[in-house]
Amino acid sequence: MMTRKLPIIAVATAPGKAGVGIIRISGPKLGPIIQAIFQKTLPRRQASLLTFRDGVGDPIDQVIAIYFMGPASFTGEDVLELQCHGGPQLLELIMKRCLDLGKADGLVIAEPGEFTLRAYLNNKIDLAQAEAIADLIDAQSEAAVRGAARSLQGEFSEDINDLIEEITQLRILVESTLDFPEEEIEFLENAHARERLKAISSKLTALRAGAKQGKILRDGIQLVLAGAPNVGKSSLLNRLAGEEVAIVTPIAGTTRDRVKESIVLDGVPIHVIDTAGLRKTSDIVEAKGIERSWDAIRLADLVIFLKDANQEGGLGDLDDEGLKSEILKELSPKCPVLEVTNKSDLLLISPNGGAEQNNIFISAKTGAGIDGLKQRILEIVGWSGAQEGAIVARRRHLDCLDRAADHIVKSEQFAANGNSSLELFAEELRLAQDNLGLITGKLLPDDLLGKIFSQFCIGK
Ligand code: GDP
Repeated sequence: MMTRKLPIIAVATAPGKAGVGIIRISGPKLGPIIQAIFQKTLPRRQASLLTFRDGVGDPIDQVIAIYFMGPASFTGEDVLELQCHGGPQLLELIMKRCLDLGKADGLVIAEPGEFTLRAYLNNKIDLAQAEAIADLIDAQSEAAVRGAARSLQGEFSEDINDLIEEITQLRILVESTLDFPEEEIEFLENAHARERLKAISSKLTALRAGAKQGKILRDGIQLVLAGAPNVGKSSLLNRLAGEEVAIVTPIAGTTRDRVKESIVLDGVPIHVIDTAGLRKTSDIVEAKGIERSWDAIRLADLVIFLKDANQEGGLGDLDDEGLKSEILKELSPKCPVLEVTNKSDLLLISPNGGAEQNNIFISAKTGAGIDGLKQRILEIVGWSGAQEGAIVARRRHLDCLDRAADHIVKSEQFAANGNSSLELFAEELRLAQDNLGLITGKLLPDDLLGKIFSQFCIGK
């Protein structure tokens, strides 16, 4: 996939019926294929209303055809866009006919993400922008759409490139000093190396903070709702989701499998996983649900441990404390746990709300305390609430930024040692720069590139 130069074709619009369906063809030279389809050449960047005909010359559809001659196109190659009517059978027929007509020129069906990959390989966009296209399409909230659009515009890439440029300038100074050792003595002072490094370091800190928010905006958070059967997990999930998604019944163990429901709180997608009643069971189906709940717990960003204010509520085979310690054992050490007590409406004395930061009283039934709980969830996962100027980011970006920051810290340590460590100082700067370059796709190994683009949908 990485190197093929063949022309590619795919339906660019979503499957299913629609008013319009778009088929895109991209290739180094589309002249002969266009000629074969329409028996004529097309003007550049102009919409032409044409009849698309089958093998015996019968009309199949009226289409609008637009020819973008490379490199002034999305992929940087020649691109033909056919705006057809949006019927699945019709699009299939047009695709087939195009494939037949383009066979001699090697026309093949595009792989997922291949159009965007070509745009990247032809330097139309960098890797962070290519990822932003996929994120724009996948965005789960309005804030995520806006964030992805900013990344696509290149705001994130620009910040990364500015940082790379600053590191490069510093490296040039160091490297040239290394070539002229007699000048080393004054280097760190003369070049204001430490001050520059400090500025780089604080920019990197700001970028990491922004990217962390961007990751939350893009991926949302995995919230596990854990607790013994009948404490009201399904009811709370329904309350958070605002609709009936899980089965609520008074019989313990009815939630047989975890139910995943995504809600949006303050622009952040929250994927709530309602655990099956975590109790020992001989029922095979229920046991499977319970095993999946444990898997979700291991990957959670936040666990809400739900208790029943009404102590007589069915606790199943495990008491609250036993269950809690079992869950704590499985959690990643960094995963926060929030204790929430449900059914506050059954308490005769109203709970001392807010006195205990980590024990929140709610009623899934009446909705009491739910807003406070939502606030607390966002606070715990580190959402700053600042949507203005937010970009979207991925785990991959965060990892690269973290590694770059580690190398900057090391280079600061070597700078503190004075000139004796100049070579090591320079090496750490290089490593920091390399890691930043991975974000925009400079220096990216081919296999990683293939992996990133294979996650795109077909026709992208
Ligand atoms: P799960 O097994 O933990 O998912 O619990 P469910 O959500 O199925 O709830 C078990 C029972 O408790 C149902 O009869 C619910 O109507 C009831 N319940 C849930 N939340 C509340 C609440 O806040 N107050 C009261 N009074 N009952 C609740």
